Amino acid sequence: MRKTIIAGNWKMNKDVNEAIQFADGLKRNFSNKNKSTVLICAPYTHIFAINHILKDTDILIGAQNMYQEEKGAFTGEISAEMIKSVGCKYVLIGHSERREYFKESNELLNKKIKLALHYELTPIYCVGEKLEHRENNQTFNIIESQIKEGLKGFSTEELKKIVIAYEPVWAIGTGKTASPEQANEVHSFIRSLLMSLSNSDISESISILYGGSVTPDNVTELMKKHDIDGALIGGASLKVDSFLKLINY
Ligand code: PEP
Repeated sequence: MRKTIIAGNWKMNKDVNEAIQFADGLKRNFSNKNKSTVLICAPYTHIFAINHILKDTDILIGAQNMYQEEKGAFTGEISAEMIKSVGCKYVLIGHSERREYFKESNELLNKKIKLALHYELTPIYCVGEKLEHRENNQTFNIIESQIKEGLKGFSTEELKKIVIAYEPVWAIGTGKTASPEQANEVHSFIRSLLMSLSNSDISESISILYGGSVTPDNVTELMKKHDIDGALIGGASLKVDSFLKLINY
């Protein structure tokens, strides 16, 4: 069954005290009228503290990244097992900022997804085209290679455990949202790709989130679309009142 997921991505924002204040405020004022899965993808350093506050609530914690090896001499890196041990249930894989600034390839992301699943973390695999791709009519080619290469070799059972986030790069942090029609068109394309990857009708088992300048003002129209199962939200997830409006769209 497709789950509705509202996920915040704090990126590299907030110190630990601000994160604790946010978690306290969210817990005190929490309401979830659509019964969505609610998730905060926090910086590594804040996860333990906010998990302590939120552990007896329905609000879940995710990480924004993880390393592609299990353990060892990788100074400065954080493993799947580590994020799991501090309470993460989800992990973002292949956010466009990771693809762009850290040169993460589809092949590398495939390894990370595999490892996340091994540790029973739900990967949120992010895909999306840049502005130049959209302008040159390459959106569908780019999405196809991100999906086919990133999800290569997974069984149907594994594919069912993955969440996809479609985030057009030109819409992230820019205030330019894809129209609900533009987003839905790509979501339905992704759903058909997932079916062809598994050779079975798994498309109804996988949630596909939209991300890119989602705000309390545009979330409702996006969420009305048939193939949009939720939202991955950066800027508008940083304040409790705005995040609560998004949750209760
Ligand atoms: C994101 O961080 O994934 C994102 C979509 O950011 P924003 O909502 O700020 O565009």
